Amino acid sequence: MPSILVTNDDGVHSPGIHALAAALRALGDITIVAPVTESSAIGHALTLARPLRLERVAMYGDGDAVFSVDGTPTDCVNIALTMVLDRQPDLVVSGINKGFNLGDDVTYSGTVAGAMEGALLGIPSIAVSLERTRDPHDFNFTPAARAAASIAASVLEKGLPARTFLNINVPRRLTHGFRATVQGTRNHVTKVTQSIDPRGRPYYWIEEGDSEWHPDERSDYHAVKSGWISVTPLHPDLTRRDALPLVEALPLPPSVAVD
Ligand code: MN
Repeated sequence: MPSILVTNDDGVHSPGIHALAAALRALGDITIVAPVTESSAIGHALTLARPLRLERVAMYGDGDAVFSVDGTPTDCVNIALTMVLDRQPDLVVSGINKGFNLGDDVTYSGTVAGAMEGALLGIPSIAVSLERTRDPHDFNFTPAARAAASIAASVLEKGLPARTFLNINVPRRLTHGFRATVQGTRNHVTKVTQSIDPRGRPYYWIEEGDSEWHPDERSDYHAVKSGWISVTPLHPDLTRRDALPLVEALPLPPSVAVD
């Protein structure tokens, strides 16, 4: 039986992670190691400046091993591999996130980072995100969980190239099947609201602004807006290779050594 590690960034009590684990149960032995509290938009952060606590979560008595870590998704993957599992898992699945992780936003995403950490540690890995609505409680995770299980089964069978992971985004209005996509791009609108706290000091909320996506038929954004499940292969390498000649041509001194 394959061993499957499940994590997320919405926290160990998010219904999305339990819907995901339930759908994956037919494929292998499930171990959940997830943040004790929500840590969305925490990216690929690793906690180095304080100790971490690992707790068994007893309330989920359906046979899975469920643990919480008071840290990030990346912390969870590392602690799972070293302290919880007795062997390297065959698959890491992160999600199901409440809200898309499309285009440039994958760099903020703790959900995507959980899968990226799995890939960096040599394990085939998948991130799964579901479109959100205005109502923060209105989520039907079933279609996304089914999609995740289909992808997971094929990844368990076929594997993935080294350092490669899959970013799955599932729209609420699902009218088609799976589509291979590239990351879309959008303009980034910074929206920060200032208010005054009861002690008279200002505080700030960073919010998602109204962004516009650049038209691209191959993009993850275009796919989900057209009713497809978007499947983007990602890797951690951010190098812009076609800009290397530009860097090589910069007028820089031959040496900055101090003599
Ligand atoms: Mn999240």
